[in-house]
Amino acid sequence: MVDLLAQYNHIQKEVDRAVIDVIRSSKYINGPQVKSFTQNLSQYLEGAEVVPCGNGTDALQIALMALGLKPGDEVITATFTYVATAEVIALLGLKPILVDVHRDTFLIDISQVEKAITNRTKAIVPVHLFGQCANMEALMQLAEKHNLFVVEDTAQAIGADFTFSDGRKMKAGTIGHVGCTSFFPSKNLGCYGDGGAMFTRDPEISAALRMIANHGQSKQYYHDKVGVNSRLDTIQAAILDIKLPHLDTYNDHRRAAADRYDKAFADNPHVQTPKRVSNSTHVFHQYTLILSSSVDRDALKEHLATKEIPAMIYYPVPLHHQKAYRQDNDKSFPETEHLCKNVISLPIHSELTVEQQEIITGEINSFILN
Ligand SMILES: *Cc1c(COP(=O)(O)O)cnc(C)c1O
Repeated sequence: MVDLLAQYNHIQKEVDRAVIDVIRSSKYINGPQVKSFTQNLSQYLEGAEVVPCGNGTDALQIALMALGLKPGDEVITATFTYVATAEVIALLGLKPILVDVHRDTFLIDISQVEKAITNRTKAIVPVHLFGQCANMEALMQLAEKHNLFVVEDTAQAIGADFTFSDGRKMKAGTIGHVGCTSFFPSKNLGCYGDGGAMFTRDPEISAALRMIANHGQSKQYYHDKVGVNSRLDTIQAAILDIKLPHLDTYNDHRRAAADRYDKAFADNPHVQTPKRVSNSTHVFHQYTLILSSSVDRDALKEHLATKEIPAMIYYPVPLHHQKAYRQDNDKSFPETEHLCKNVISLPIHSELTVEQQEIITGEINSFILN
């Protein structure tokens, strides 16, 4: 699905040097590279504060901890997402309230969010799924009206730009009260292990995030809050600092690959290519097709596997069907149900070649059309 080795080959000298520098410095924890990367990412995000942490799941957990929510408080999120989003809500004793997404964009349906708001609702966690932003303008208006926090799950959309109706642009993850991202190797900005970060423009929240990520410590051996231990390794920060200047180019390559896929499927009536929303750029963390119900998706996936073409189902089981996250019986999620049955994600990454894509699209079109 990704080719991390090919990407490394282009930056090998710099990365090798940076890793060896960290080892020789022996500042493995909170070395100067962590500060440097954090500052550079903050600059990339147009001044939002960046608080590094151990992974994207921790980022979501620490964000919710920093907002001072109480057990039983309701947090609204999408049912069509990776489990981490709902997991941290439940782990903190909060109640995940799942809502449906739009069938054509995979993004959280704001009208469903509005319907799900009760007097116990305290926060909304939109997921910028597959690489483009949920409607943050509508969501922030709704949040303001009901006095709710917004925590953006930006694990799949780092580098995407959201445009407001007045023309103002903001980076994904810097619009809500907190944005959370992951540097898992296959993410658009990935390190060579685990890593994550939180973004905020609120100095109080940023202080709370820092404190909680470091054992709730205000100064050494003084613990004002119950916290966790979640750090970005110095080696990972050094690698990320080298990759960050390439992020926009990596995302451009992903978009170009997506455009080529679109063209190749344009004449296939059984394949719906991913829709781009007008208010966000798309960084194509995933390139996800929606197949007609007449296409045997599993057979297609198996056929591709015989040709050594990877394909993945993101996600086969919606959260509301997971034992841990079942919702009240009266709720229905028709759009997500449809997607879980019919989506298939194709390889997409910064090093994908035209030739590879011709093979992939050729196999898919001939399987479906013959
Ligand atoms: C990857 C991902 C996460 C979790 O990130 P980790 O670094 O693996 O903990 C959370 N949410 C979404 C939508 C993701 O894609």
